[in-house]
Amino acid sequence: MRSLPTLTERQKRNFWSKVHISEAVNCWDWAGMVHTSGYGRISFQDKDYVAHRIAYFLHMGADPLSSNVIQTCENRKCCNPAHLQLKVHCAILSKLQVQSIREQAANGVSLRRLAQKHNVGLTTIHDIVNQKTWKDI
Ligand SMILES: [Zn+2]
Repeated sequence: MRSLPTLTERQKRNFWSKVHISEAVNCWDWAGMVHTSGYGRISFQDKDYVAHRIAYFLHMGADPLSSNVIQTCENRKCCNPAHLQLKVHCAILSKLQVQSIREQAANGVSLRRLAQKHNVGLTTIHDIVNQKTWKDI
């Protein structure tokens, strides 16, 4: 997955101006261009990005990098940060890596360090260590 660009304040305003911002409980539909896949898209410097990944990025201040950002509401146009969550590509971590992550965390290696080392999000490492994902290992 392509890293997300650093956006200027103007680009950020431009992005949010294309989102139907509503109450926190509601979906915030993307009003800009839409991919054939149904996901919102936006271009910066002639490169296409997925709109809700940008929403996540702007809200969290962290690039989701190799992790997928999923909409818990299953609305592909939704850009409400409250409905966005990181989901790991399961294939990127092997069983051995997962075991090693848990071992290292148990030995006091910081979760942030482990996330950087494996190029995954902090949430991903947190979920692995807390047995929320990869429960069968
Ligand atoms: Zn939603």
